[in-house]
Amino acid sequence: MAASELINLSGLLDDAKCFALVRQHRWPEGARCPVCDSGAVIRDGHDDTQPCRQRYRCKACAGRFDDLTGTVLAGRHQPLRVWVLCLYFMGLNLSNRQIALELGLDGSDVQAMMEQLRRGLAAKTPAVELTGEVEIDEVYVVAGHKGQPAAVAKRGGSGAAAGWQARRDAARWRRTSRPSSA
Ligand SMILES: [Zn+2]
Repeated sequence: MAASELINLSGLLDDAKCFALVRQHRWPEGARCPVCDSGAVIRDGHDDTQPCRQRYRCKACAGRFDDLTGTVLAGRHQPLRVWVLCLYFMGLNLSNRQIALELGLDGSDVQAMMEQLRRGLAAKTPAVELTGEVEIDEVYVVAGHKGQPAAVAKRGGSGAAAGWQARRDAARWRRTSRPSSA
């Protein structure tokens, strides 16, 4: 085995475990049909090119699917272990460039993969629901916008803008310097 294969992190990962990880997250209670949501599914061999990728057949609708069907990871040319590592690095807040270096990939490939992952993850995030008292951001309206255009003109446009900037910075400071218990 070439030394470069050992240095590359994705080469050290176990394909079977990566697929088990996806199954565990996707179907903690056991595989379900992505078409009709039936739990009456039977194992139906493995993928021809990825031997750890389990195939299934649904007894309710006769549909066929596998571990990745209907996920953002289906139909990708990178092996699943590379995607798993990408997700892991994403959680560590590594930049796309750093991830590309670690995995020996092209920067633009990693960029595309991360976009896919973010889209895939975001799709599962429930819509934010606001209840009770909601504080949005502080908004400052310059005098001219309060019906005093003459006063603003006398002070000069750039001066007004500078004043707005100062007030905005002060507001930001108040927000960030609040004790965390508040
Ligand atoms: Zn089905």
